[in-house]
Amino acid sequence: MPRNPRYDILFEPVKIGPKTAKNRFFQVPHASGMTNAAPHVRAAFRGMKAEGGWGTICTGACSVDPSSDDSPFPFATMWDESDIRSHAVMTEAVHEHGALAGIELWHGGAVAMNRTSRIAPLSPSGVPWMATHVPFMSAQRPKIMDAADIRDLIRWHCDAAVRAERAGFDILYVYAGMGYLPYQFLLSDYNQRTDAYGGTVRNRVRLVDELIDAVREATHGRCAVALRISLQELRARPSDLAESEAHEVISLLKDAPDLFDVKMDYSASDCSPSRFTAEGSHEPVVDFVKTLTDKPVVGVGRFTAPDTMASMVRRGVLDLIGGARPSIADPFLPNKINEGREEDIRECIGCNICISSWHDGVWVRCTQNPTAGEEWRRGWHPEQVKRDGNGQVLVVGGGPAGLEAALTLGRRGYDVALAEARDDFGGRLLYETALPGLAQWRRVADYRLGQLRKMPNVSLYPASPLTAQDVAEFGAQHVVIATGARWGHQLCAANELPMPALDAPRIYTPDDLAKGVLPEGPVAVFDFDNYYLGSAIAEDLAAKSLPVTYITTAGAAAAWSFMTNEQPHIHTALARRGIACRTLEVVTGFDGETLRLSQIFSSERREIAARSLVIVGRRDGGSALYDELAAQNNPFSLHLTGDALAPGAIAHATYQAHKTAQSIGRAAAEIAPRRDAPFSVRALAPQHLAAK
Ligand code: ADP
Ligand code: SF4
Repeated sequence: MPRNPRYDILFEPVKIGPKTAKNRFFQVPHASGMTNAAPHVRAAFRGMKAEGGWGTICTGACSVDPSSDDSPFPFATMWDESDIRSHAVMTEAVHEHGALAGIELWHGGAVAMNRTSRIAPLSPSGVPWMATHVPFMSAQRPKIMDAADIRDLIRWHCDAAVRAERAGFDILYVYAGMGYLPYQFLLSDYNQRTDAYGGTVRNRVRLVDELIDAVREATHGRCAVALRISLQELRARPSDLAESEAHEVISLLKDAPDLFDVKMDYSASDCSPSRFTAEGSHEPVVDFVKTLTDKPVVGVGRFTAPDTMASMVRRGVLDLIGGARPSIADPFLPNKINEGREEDIRECIGCNICISSWHDGVWVRCTQNPTAGEEWRRGWHPEQVKRDGNGQVLVVGGGPAGLEAALTLGRRGYDVALAEARDDFGGRLLYETALPGLAQWRRVADYRLGQLRKMPNVSLYPASPLTAQDVAEFGAQHVVIATGARWGHQLCAANELPMPALDAPRIYTPDDLAKGVLPEGPVAVFDFDNYYLGSAIAEDLAAKSLPVTYITTAGAAAAWSFMTNEQPHIHTALARRGIACRTLEVVTGFDGETLRLSQIFSSERREIAARSLVIVGRRDGGSALYDELAAQNNPFSLHLTGDALAPGAIAHATYQAHKTAQSIGRAAAEIAPRRDAPFSVRALAPQHLAAK
């Protein structure tokens, strides 16, 4: 299909200093969890996006010196000569497809607690960053930088820039955002210096200005220099000389970098979940930048709709469409728009499982794109799979796992039958995406169903609850069971050991609510699952005018959702809806009128009035259908996958199902993962070579 002319504007080249991006699709720096220890994994992950049409591909944060050590969070390094080769593999993979490669040179300052290097963290004035924020908490406080430290910081950036150019990078970033060191100089809250680097905005901007100049000079103007800057706080601060401090900062720097990469200040607002924030949410903060500079501007906003992207350019908000999450969910987004295949875009759902990978310290994972992070290790490609399938596969269960298994097996060339008990496909998504804010998660089913309906070798059978006899009689060569998991009534003890199921009237699980049960109010929601669902159910019940109390064993609502940047928004939402939020408590009893609670540390007993109790706690996988089939002698291969294999987030189900679908009919050696290794830091000593 030809490209829709409405989107031609997205494919115009953009000059960035001495370099030219072939189009406006710009994969901004984003965390991948891939350090220099996994150079091929990283290169393949980034290179895939270049293959998919992104005109510029950047690294994630790349430390310029051991005094910027974010461990245990994963980060890349450009500390010395031995780091060059590791990055060169990535720039080669990116250049192979005509894209530019950018590197985000990074010094974390007071954010980086230097847990491994054990160097005193640096800061403009000794003010800690998020010192009470549990995941970043440290007893360490930063030192105040003196003049020599500032000179060192500039030198480290220059040295790293020279190495970056040698590694093949086209765009070198100076990073003044997200709490990191140059950003701390910009904000008077962190910068209380009385020298030439503190006080007025002009003085606070000085360091960033000098870093940009120094990086450009170090590479003799051959590389483009980008400034990544967070503007949320600065824009909220009044200025005597401009509309806000953000306006003043951009005016002072308007000619300094070759590119402005503009963003928010906090992970939860910068990489905000779709449950609480719409596409394009950064615009009100960054929209003024282009009015003050002639340099190109890139920004993000979880852009997946080409009309929104084109409008950002036409309205003069951005020159380049930044993508982090949309490029993970669909590395081929630009090519699909270019080929007039917008309906094939695997749209990001804004669940932020990807960012949770960084918090977990592992390679990036994605709910929508199960191949993300597996391009090199398992040789998975988001669009292509070897067409070696021969015969028929029956997939039972049409939730995220069944849909993903059917899609990948269909692409492999198998004749696929997908049977779903209910009238509609989507599994858990059918209920969950009707809860407040979760509608976009439906894209997991919509994308797959859209693809499956186009495939002549795939048949969809809704309203088909299959028994073991049905499966056996169907006569397929391979059977995949993806029948999901069930929520239980079990409670848990203060020490989180499992407790027996509670037996009383009006006790429900999410499965009951999914079937249409509306509990009597007042309702208590007891959440020890600790992800999104308990809070989303509480929100939904409150929206239905029921008085709701949310109770959790954890210290905060939806405790694990800190990992996905949802937690601060969830607390705000619970408060906005008037939901009482009780933390650090367990449910110990319920008689249909009174709910008994116990404080988990003091064991103090408490009671609240409730007519219904919703328990969002334990989820059990397993499948009676699978067990029955497995006990027989079958003429087909049998596979259990998704939540039925091991209950988890939707990302676990799509990943597991993709893996199952890649493994069917293949020998173990064919699907064995590869093991990456860092390039050797030191060459072997001659005596060792001689000994061989
Ligand atoms: P997953 O996340 O692993 O895909 P879900 O619970 O979302 O799990 O989806 C499982 C789907 O399997 C549900 O839609 C359910 O209706 C369907 N299912 C369960 N048992 C059967 C069965 N015997 N025959 C057909 N479909 C089934
Ligand atoms: Fe988007 Fe979720 Fe994938 Fe992240 S994990 S890219 S938010 S779909």
